[in-house]
Amino acid sequence: MAMTIAVDVNSQIVSIDDVERGLACSCRCIECNELLIAKKGSQRIPHFSHASLKKSCEIAPESFLHRYAKQVVKESLGLQLPPLPGHFPDSEDQSSWWDFRSVRAECWMGDFRPDICAELADGPLLIEIACTSFVHDEKQARIEQLGIRTVELDLSGLVVRPSADGLLELKAVILHNTSLKRWVYPLLPQPTVVSASTLPIVEIDSRQNLSPQPDARMRFTIQGIWVDLRVLEFGAVVVRSVAYSPTIAEVLKRLAWQYSGRYVPNYKNWMFPLWAKSTLIEQLAALEN
Ligand SMILES: [Zn+2]
Repeated sequence: MAMTIAVDVNSQIVSIDDVERGLACSCRCIECNELLIAKKGSQRIPHFSHASLKKSCEIAPESFLHRYAKQVVKESLGLQLPPLPGHFPDSEDQSSWWDFRSVRAECWMGDFRPDICAELADGPLLIEIACTSFVHDEKQARIEQLGIRTVELDLSGLVVRPSADGLLELKAVILHNTSLKRWVYPLLPQPTVVSASTLPIVEIDSRQNLSPQPDARMRFTIQGIWVDLRVLEFGAVVVRSVAYSPTIAEVLKRLAWQYSGRYVPNYKNWMFPLWAKSTLIEQLAALEN
């Protein structure tokens, strides 16, 4: 791509059309970070050139797209997403706008670093930006282990026009086009197919107690209120205060913020990824009377 876009003094990607002429543009090169001059004369098509007079850099569309998508999500504090797997919107509209409270780029989640971590009223949402590399099996497994909802934004097919209009057009596509977005987690559970021949033959002793095992549950007493913690079959950790107390609600909210938990209104509980289990147990035990 030609040098018609650059990074301004606020680290934002800008077009040559949006900046002042000459060194006053205060821009740097997207590729090499050198100081740029905005050439906006009548002789040639407006473009940036390096202040050091070195030859123009070739801007790789992938690195630009990756950076620009982060910028757009951060400044818009939201994204239009397809419905979560298993959720069917009431209206004809198959997409909806998700509002973010805050957006952090490149935060660590255990040993995995998603491109964007958005914080929503009901917990975090991770966004992976794919330009050339997509979420592969190993990353998929890590995301499932984390148990945090994650969406992939596929920018690989986008054609970039490096002008002010082109940037605006691209921004609208990144924000609103739901066909570029795919849920990585949660996914609908795949039905397991078990063939009859592989089923083990189990002889059932009629005297045996066949009632299901109660869930392994830990109970903490915090300020006279029971708080239960249990691990669900699919690996998430659920924490629930048995009675409502504003103080306990604040404690659980803080834990959710620190350990990637989210409130599940339907069950009035807080769901955490499995990696948070031992820390949660420690923290809840420390709060006991
Ligand atoms: Zn350069």
